[in-house]
Amino acid sequence: MSRFWSDIVHRLTPYVPGEQPALAHPVKLNTNENPYPPSPRVVEAIRRELGEDGASLRKYPNPTAHALREAVAKHHGLRIEQVFAGNGSDEVLAHAFQALLKHDAPIRFPDITYSFYPVYAQLYGVEYRTIPLNADFAIDVDDYRAPNGGVLLPNPNAPTGRALPLAEIEVLLKANPDAPVIVDEAYVDFDAESAVNLIDAYPNLLVVQTTSKARSLAGMRVGFAFGDPALIEALTRVKDSFNSYPLDRLAQVAALASYEDQAWFEESRAKVVASREQLASQLRAKGFDVVPSAANFVFAKHPGHDAATLAAALKKQEIFVRHFRLPRIDQHLRISIGTPAECDALVAALTRIVG
Ligand SMILES: *Cc1c(COP(=O)(O)O)cnc(C)c1O
Repeated sequence: MSRFWSDIVHRLTPYVPGEQPALAHPVKLNTNENPYPPSPRVVEAIRRELGEDGASLRKYPNPTAHALREAVAKHHGLRIEQVFAGNGSDEVLAHAFQALLKHDAPIRFPDITYSFYPVYAQLYGVEYRTIPLNADFAIDVDDYRAPNGGVLLPNPNAPTGRALPLAEIEVLLKANPDAPVIVDEAYVDFDAESAVNLIDAYPNLLVVQTTSKARSLAGMRVGFAFGDPALIEALTRVKDSFNSYPLDRLAQVAALASYEDQAWFEESRAKVVASREQLASQLRAKGFDVVPSAANFVFAKHPGHDAATLAAALKKQEIFVRHFRLPRIDQHLRISIGTPAECDALVAALTRIVG
């Protein structure tokens, strides 16, 4: 604390990201990173951009990430003015809070969801109401019918992994024609249905995606928003009042190259999905309750073992999983899907701990 702090800083409760342990070979299943590397074309693109001497780095990058947005627009069958690119989808979401969610009426999001949402709400002074998930952690879209300043939810939800069918997203859009509906699709590629194809029909829909999970580029920080050009313009106005060059040169070429290698993407996501199904059934066999997941993680609890104690015991064996000390979910662990060897290491460690 310091007397030099702006008033708001005293009141902030910042988001706490998962630990990045300083170990040589941790089994890192705590931040939903992809266990497989990005396409080799990504690495080539970065080398090409750097050249022999890195001279390209002297110059500012393209301020609108034009080539990248054009490629991603084409990939999704959108027009470039329906695509916003930001420095990770966290930044895109932050801009959306400021650009689209600050109204008189409070916004709504689930009580159990991405824990960055309340942090942004606090930072930008956006009022919100949380809507409890059902007992089985499902979202009931009928709970979002009341007039509100906006609706925000991840699909699949985090940290539960549960997905909503597209028809339910459409119910949500129809019930809220006068408010923005933001669907955070960070994990959509692992088995859920994207709402991108609804954009032309619903001017209130903003879909947020990232290259961090299914495209193995968490280290590059590239995320997107897709929506009606008016929504994209709102984000762009905030961005250009904040940082005109959010995406650096290497991030722009790396992300673009990733969209040029669809085969690599398909293969890596299919491997993650196969490992997820296997891990879920192994955990169930050990007595865990596992929430059905459409993401690259599973959310599980063991009726006979305290979650914090389990996480601590795993950490002693250099296996990192995520535990949230939050109401309703403090007995759950969120376990990212690793390589088959990493999943095996987890299962072996759990066998030693829970039997
Ligand atoms: C990982 C994640 C993000 C953020 O991704 P970045 O693009 O890496 O900033 C956004 N939303 C949810 C629900 C996530 O889990």
